[in-house]
Amino acid sequence: MKILILNSGSSSIKYQLINMPSKEVVCKGMVERIGSNEAILQYKTDKVSIEETLEIKSHRQGLQHIVALLVDSKKGIVDNANEIQVIGHRVVHGGTTFSAPTMVTPFVKDKIKELFALAPLHNPHNWEGLDLAEEIFPQAKQVAVFDTAFHQTLPLKAKKYAIPNHLFEEHKIQVYGFHGISHQYVSEKSIEHLKKSKSKIICIHLGNGCSMTAVLDGVSVDHSLGFTPANGLIMGSRSGDIDHSIIFYLVETLGYDLKDVNRMLLKDSGMIGLTGFNDLRDVQAAAENGDMASNLALEMNAYRIKKYIGAYASAMNGLDAIVFTAGIGENSSELRKRVCSEMDFLGIRLDNLENEKREVGIHEIHTGDSLVKILVVPTNEELEIAKQAFQLVSAL
Ligand code: ADP
Repeated sequence: MKILILNSGSSSIKYQLINMPSKEVVCKGMVERIGSNEAILQYKTDKVSIEETLEIKSHRQGLQHIVALLVDSKKGIVDNANEIQVIGHRVVHGGTTFSAPTMVTPFVKDKIKELFALAPLHNPHNWEGLDLAEEIFPQAKQVAVFDTAFHQTLPLKAKKYAIPNHLFEEHKIQVYGFHGISHQYVSEKSIEHLKKSKSKIICIHLGNGCSMTAVLDGVSVDHSLGFTPANGLIMGSRSGDIDHSIIFYLVETLGYDLKDVNRMLLKDSGMIGLTGFNDLRDVQAAAENGDMASNLALEMNAYRIKKYIGAYASAMNGLDAIVFTAGIGENSSELRKRVCSEMDFLGIRLDNLENEKREVGIHEIHTGDSLVKILVVPTNEELEIAKQAFQLVSAL
């Protein structure tokens, strides 16, 4: 069964065509900078690799370019679009409605629309991808896989904020949690690797957005992002945890506009606010060249992660493994080293040589005497979506 995975963002569409159940990736790529006349179209199969800069005005045009390549007589990998039987969509916010992958119906689309206010940067684009795919692949089954679904298992004590109850009951103001597709994939891989179904794992997803999940016996029991993907760790451009009084001080005393404060906390804070760089590679290079602000930002970033490790080890009353994943988690030995330093009271001991090595697949980077395993596990959100969509469609 050929499953096309679509991940529609604000100005990009990432895609993969995966054969299931063999998990073979037949083709993958992305369209970036949609809306500009210098958009980038990437398309890769085992025979061709294309990267073109061209004008792509809309998501619709972007998806049309992808389809044209998929069915192209020379570069393509299917004879016609009808060969694609299932489209798996990443949808960021599923609210309290969706706790599992779901076949897309008009009702499901309406529900995803209702959640625009909770994920304004993501859900509208996810919805548009879904709507377009229905039009372009009318014969295919459309499946929505939600980033919030894995965290539906959070116990009330972790899910609720200590604000008046009616806000939870009537307005569903609570922790939803995000990056669930990645946390689910990575925690399942780790449990398989540890050969321990009863396990206490902390998954640390460090990409452009960053989050941590306490996974007890395979189930999410606490998570660092909250009502929206803003809470918790220091991210590329998001502040993570702050005292909310700062917002009132900025508006009421310093005269800031509330919209500007929101923008500042989401777009101009985190690593970019501290250093001027969004990309951790640039922060690391600057720190190596003696930039004190960049060094401090790395230290702050690692310190926040350490605090969450302590919190989640307590929440689970123990710890078998911490797992690093996503762009930074998989690649930055520097940040991993800072996170794992002086954590031996918890039984976390990093093997510094192993930490510097690059391995394909799951990589153990703890010392022989470490009580807690330290793993680097490459995430694969597309494969997780394909797996979940395949299971759902096969069960119909
Ligand atoms: P997204 O959340 O968009 O999926 P990724 O998981 O791809 O993001 O992570 C992107 C981030 O990973 C980049 O912004 C960059 O900071 C970081 N990154 C990628 N490669 C490296 C590397 N070799 N060293 C340090 N950081 C890296």
